[in-house]
Amino acid sequence: MLKFYNKVIIIIKKDNLYDDDASESGSGWISWFCDLEGHEFFIEVDEDYIRDNFNLHGLKERIQYFNEAMQMILSADNPDSEDLNDQNFLEIYQSAMDLYGLIHARFIISPRGLAMMKEKYMLGSFGYCPRVLCERQNILPIGVSEELSTSRVKVYCPRCQDVYIPRQKQLDIDGAYFGTSFPHIFLKVLKINLKHLIQTYTELIPQGPPKFIPKIYGFKIFGMRGSKYELKFDFKGQPVNEEEIRNVLKKDKKSNKRDEEEKMNI
Ligand SMILES: [Zn+2]
Repeated sequence: MLKFYNKVIIIIKKDNLYDDDASESGSGWISWFCDLEGHEFFIEVDEDYIRDNFNLHGLKERIQYFNEAMQMILSADNPDSEDLNDQNFLEIYQSAMDLYGLIHARFIISPRGLAMMKEKYMLGSFGYCPRVLCERQNILPIGVSEELSTSRVKVYCPRCQDVYIPRQKQLDIDGAYFGTSFPHIFLKVLKINLKHLIQTYTELIPQGPPKFIPKIYGFKIFGMRGSKYELKFDFKGQPVNEEEIRNVLKKDKKSNKRDEEEKMNI
């Protein structure tokens, strides 16, 4: 199994570095964790959801320090600088991160989690598709494996339906914290919720992958994709409008010849 991180890296955002109020009393481990640099894809899982044993089914066997990790996640205090230099703390932090991540992967496909992720998606918090033809289509996080420490989080474009490596720096997040099915469940639920608002749905998720139209100096090319006389094929792969295109070319040749003759007469 590929282990892609050798040590725990915790980067506190510059804005929060000297915020004494936030580090002393704290708003709790969950919001502290989600506010770390590189953790922009995460949403804050409700404590009630984490405390519900049903949502934790099968996780105990997968997490090394399960009880300590759970205690850390539900802690009302933010870790201080002393904690961050303590090796024991960092070991449990790794387990807490994995546990929170696996709960997160379940939470984001729950009705409340989907609604929270929709807000982030609409704000473009996950970034946009690098493909030019997708015209900065908002994208969604996706994991390529449900297993921990297999691969980092990737992003999925609903328009070209492709998976990319995120552009964001510092994004050293396990793909298992988002799961492999999140974008598909998200888009399916969004479609059901918005089916009476077709306009809104197509705005959020454009239909079909965009086609590339070749151009020279901004002009479409005769007989090529996107032009008025684009060569079309039937299901057997045979051209269906070849004759029509030939006739256009013949006509063009004739009119060119006539023009030349007229010029000669002048
Ligand atoms: Zn795309």
